[in-house]
Amino acid sequence: MKLILLGAPGAGKGTVAKMLTALDGSVQISTGDILRGAVQAGTPLGKEAEAFMKRGDLVPDSLIMGIMEKRLQEPDCAKGFLLDGFPRTIPQAEALKVLLNKLGITLDMVVNLEVPRDIILDRLCTRRTCSNGKCQAIYNVKSNPPKQAGVCDKCGNPVVQRDDETEEAILHRLATYNQKTAPLIGFYDKEGQMFTVVCTSSDVVVNAVKAKLGM
Ligand code: AMP
Repeated sequence: MKLILLGAPGAGKGTVAKMLTALDGSVQISTGDILRGAVQAGTPLGKEAEAFMKRGDLVPDSLIMGIMEKRLQEPDCAKGFLLDGFPRTIPQAEALKVLLNKLGITLDMVVNLEVPRDIILDRLCTRRTCSNGKCQAIYNVKSNPPKQAGVCDKCGNPVVQRDDETEEAILHRLATYNQKTAPLIGFYDKEGQMFTVVCTSSDVVVNAVKAKLGM
């Protein structure tokens, strides 16, 4: 499948993406994971992106498009991909349209995960992430804690609260989402590609996507 997953930070895009990749071998492409990996590795991209990310601001469109142009041409994308956290602005969506045309790729649809704001806030404040840039497994202190407190089940590295998951940064990220990313719903609606699901659980979204794709 070739999908864009839209939704506020904390809507569950990453979890849903991981469940969908297990169905058909498509790959999850999370620009947030790619950027955090680059920051941790101290690459030039990471150095450029770090300050924006810490504040909860978006990284400039040109940096993101550079990442995506390369990533979408890697061989593992041939079976399909789930774009998680990209596009985040109208210019990114327009540039993606041009890029997909150039690469001869047609999207199946854009899935919009709708989640009430109070649930999102609670989820983000209690979310914890594996500090290993190559793992980045997600936990939740309330609903999905690691077996041993503070230690990743998958790789054994410390599980931490992300720099951009302080209350101040979270509120800023949500405001940025409303201002810059929410307009994409209208953009993809006009393109006839939008499929909105009220995300009461990840299973609900996965089943709705499967039904829509006839899987
Ligand atoms: P995420 O894990 O998707 O919430 O992304 C974490 C941070 O990475 C965001 O708050 C942005 O600073 C940056 N980021 C991720 N994806 C994008 C994107 N498509 N455009 C701009 N900045 C992004």
